[in-house]
Amino acid sequence: MKKAFVFLILCLGCSKSSDPGTSTIPTPSTGVTPGGSTGGTTTPSTASEVPSHFKLIYGATKITSDGTYVTIEATGAPDHKSVYYATNSSLYETFSGKTYNGLNFAKNPNSISSGLYTFKIPVKPVAATKVTATSLGAIGISLNGVPFYNQYAGPNQPLTGEMTSFDQYYGHPAPGGKYHYHVEPLYLTTVKKDKMALLGFLLDGFPVYGPWENGKAVTNANLDVLHGHTHATTEFPAGIYHYHITQEDPYINGNGFYGTPGTVSQ
Ligand SMILES: [Zn+2]
Ligand SMILES: [Zn+2]
Repeated sequence: MKKAFVFLILCLGCSKSSDPGTSTIPTPSTGVTPGGSTGGTTTPSTASEVPSHFKLIYGATKITSDGTYVTIEATGAPDHKSVYYATNSSLYETFSGKTYNGLNFAKNPNSISSGLYTFKIPVKPVAATKVTATSLGAIGISLNGVPFYNQYAGPNQPLTGEMTSFDQYYGHPAPGGKYHYHVEPLYLTTVKKDKMALLGFLLDGFPVYGPWENGKAVTNANLDVLHGHTHATTEFPAGIYHYHITQEDPYINGNGFYGTPGTVSQ
């Protein structure tokens, strides 16, 4: 019965593809396993079809596909409470005490503002012949539309000095108000999903999974220098390269992208 239900959802998605390149974004319910159309499976993809795993990005304001790239728009502002929202915002929540790694929280002077991100990500990610390093700023997008940042606070600056400013869900805003995650997005791993879930995608189109797998914490020793490895996942039963978030540096991505990165305007 569950399989039939999933099939129905997929077909409802298909019926909307008469609008070229546009797809409304249904909110997938937890536990539904979307059928992947990348990562080695043979599901054919029409030019206007957004693969169902990208539709898991519930925080996107718009997702379209031209068959080669999926274009994802988002404001980047979190859907969860934060001490970095303006105090008159309904999403403001005070926070003090311990944050990431048991550090004493110290608020930075910035406050969250909405941006306009446009991510252009390969629909069918492939391994690159040459590794491209990540840059500062957005390196990917999480399910709630908040960008992932890499393991640096500035050019060659370790993240450790910034960690004290991570809020109750381990994100913080940069000067100018752009909110982002350098580490585990706690709202997604504890409220919306769980620690083993798919949490987003990097710019090269490869998925990012949580800090646990098969009931155990993933460590850097389980991953390659780019911070990923290959095996079957719920969304990609035929197997796919994927990144894992870990508790230890480099947290999300290591020495660069496994695939050829798309672009982001921010
Ligand atoms: Zn930061
Ligand atoms: Zn894995």
